[in-house]
Amino acid sequence: SLPIVAIVGRPNVGKSTIFNRLAGERIAIVEDQPGITRDRIYSKSEWNGREFHLIDTGGLEMGVQDEILDHIKNQAELAIEEADVILFVTDGRAGMTATDEEVAHLLHRSRKPVVVAVNKIDDLKHEDSLYEFYQLGFEYVIGMSSVHGSGTGDVLDVLVSQF
Ligand code: GDP
Ligand code: MG
Repeated sequence: SLPIVAIVGRPNVGKSTIFNRLAGERIAIVEDQPGITRDRIYSKSEWNGREFHLIDTGGLEMGVQDEILDHIKNQAELAIEEADVILFVTDGRAGMTATDEEVAHLLHRSRKPVVVAVNKIDDLKHEDSLYEFYQLGFEYVIGMSSVHGSGTGDVLDVLVSQF
């Protein structure tokens, strides 16, 4: 079976925009199991001849009690469990947040390879905001703009190097 890349991160950082940019064909949306609705969105993608599955998730909003947000969090945690590599998306305009740090903690515990994408670096004046994200403790921190498409090739190079 193909390697699985899960896209995780707090809401509104651009996960779905990245997913749509990287997605090839969409292969499955819903897969029911007893007690669990796996309503994550999957696609099949390919980079440099290497095929993989990509999963989009709702945002990981930590420490919430709300039922819908709990559900979103569960979906993201399931995706992390399933994944071979995690694409951890953050927002370079907003800068690092406490939620990013909580998500990072969860990802360190998973012991899966993690690539940090600092998204929304649309122009040079935002490039320096990249560096604070090294504090999250992961080796790969890559700036990108899912709106312009810049940096996506670098992100994909590192992702497939982790399979
Ligand atoms: P998600 O909640 O993490 O899935 O985020 P979305 O993909 O829904 O994007 C949230 C918002 O950020 C939308 O308004 C996007 O258009 C915007 N967005 C996504 N990527 C970029 C980017 O690279 N640059 C800028 N400026 N905005 C972006
Ligand atoms: Mg989304």
